[in-house]
Amino acid sequence: MFFIETRGNDGQHPDKVSFSEAILAPISSFGGLYSPQKLPELGQDFLQQHLNASYKTLAAAVLSAFEIDIKSDIIEAALSLYDNFDDPNNPVPVVKVKEDLYVSELWHGPTRAFKDMALQPFGTVLSSIAQNRNENYLILTATSGDTGPAALETFKNKANVQVACMYPAGGTSDVQRLQMVTEDAENLKVIGVRGDFDDTQNALKQLLASDDFKKTLKEKNIHLSAANSVNFGRIIFQIIYHIHSYLELLRQGAIQPGEKVYLNVPSGNFGNALGGYYAMKMGLPVEKILIASNRNNILTSLITTGTYDLRNSSVVTTTSPAMDILKSSNIERVLFDLFGSKRTKQLMLQLDNEKHYQLNEKELETLQSIFAADYCDDEEGKHYIKAAFNNGYLMDPHTATCFKAYDSCRDKALKTIVYSTAEWTKFSPVIANALTGEVDSHDLDALHSIAEQAGIKIPAMIKGLFDKEIAQKSIIEKDQIEKEILSFL
Ligand SMILES: *Cc1c(COP(=O)(O)O)cnc(C)c1O
Repeated sequence: MFFIETRGNDGQHPDKVSFSEAILAPISSFGGLYSPQKLPELGQDFLQQHLNASYKTLAAAVLSAFEIDIKSDIIEAALSLYDNFDDPNNPVPVVKVKEDLYVSELWHGPTRAFKDMALQPFGTVLSSIAQNRNENYLILTATSGDTGPAALETFKNKANVQVACMYPAGGTSDVQRLQMVTEDAENLKVIGVRGDFDDTQNALKQLLASDDFKKTLKEKNIHLSAANSVNFGRIIFQIIYHIHSYLELLRQGAIQPGEKVYLNVPSGNFGNALGGYYAMKMGLPVEKILIASNRNNILTSLITTGTYDLRNSSVVTTTSPAMDILKSSNIERVLFDLFGSKRTKQLMLQLDNEKHYQLNEKELETLQSIFAADYCDDEEGKHYIKAAFNNGYLMDPHTATCFKAYDSCRDKALKTIVYSTAEWTKFSPVIANALTGEVDSHDLDALHSIAEQAGIKIPAMIKGLFDKEIAQKSIIEKDQIEKEILSFL
């Protein structure tokens, strides 16, 4: 299988690349993204055959259908990381919460958010490719709180890869910060930047444009790569759990073979939703994919009106910070798959230059035959958290946004799979506020308060964070980033 570019080829870049090339250098002609040339078709037989397969067996079969250029022993090693999840036999439990609503819990990995689903195996894959090529890679990430811990965890002590991770000092939850600053390994550098997530991201962009920085990388023979979801190496692992969740519903007797379901995804950069889209294209019986947003509701506008408009809009801070995004990168791969590279290039260049684009009527109709969308503000989110809690289900604020879309976007009474992207422990102050009205509590107080309300224990791995030694102490102004990273390299 080859990968081609969403904005077409410029005659400079290769016109198609292998999987390993696509994940090492994910930026292509005209700033487009690498996408599969053709998706494998799995169909009903595949689902039937894998009805009782373990997660790892299913994953290996899906990956093998993509015919990627990664040796099977490396894939096996990568997938074995799912053994570190809470239940090695079922890393992604699917729980019935009410009548038609099932929650697929994607957060049972080491950093308690769904980023582990892809980043855990991705770390092994990337490091193996780098070793085979005898090359060294630097992963630079700016994180709002979940990608950072997951990237650090997966690349810790891995050969031929270094990670420099920047987070907004004061802009993450205590648990997220502690997950990062307690990571102690030679190849990891964590830097708190004074400012908000936008400041952190802008500082990273400045760094990437710096000549000194480029020169140093060249001298030291270090290549740059990315661990965010523009990297197809992450997306491929995010197709698997959609298929797994469907099979779980079959196994639980909730649906019959071939029966359609809704997938309901809390979306930011659209990696998770894109995995669902690909699974649907590969033959998973899906009625529609429901896209849930918070007040940064640019995806809701796109899917309900066909307009993507960044003019006069700026990111607002919400209680679901991993979805505080206005430039949702992976939409581009959907546009490409539906409308081709010529149209995608036109739309994306218009977005870059004029900050908006508008789909035509036919395109909008096509988009709406696959997606529906709604957004949920913080107050509504708290209401859903509390209501679910009273029904016996504890969930985080990102997951809560889906419950609104479940109420408003379905026009058939089909079973719905809501994707839960974080454990309650990562966003405890918001949840404690929803449950008891308490405000401004620190994570540790909120964790205790929720645990008491719910009659459960704070998981040891989370509690332990508060006693761990701080290994990463840098907190700097954004104009100091270059110096700080050069000294790390
Ligand atoms: C990253 C993240 C999301 C958004 O996922 P995308 O793939 O970027 O759409 C939602 N919830 C949580 C908790 C996350 O960490």
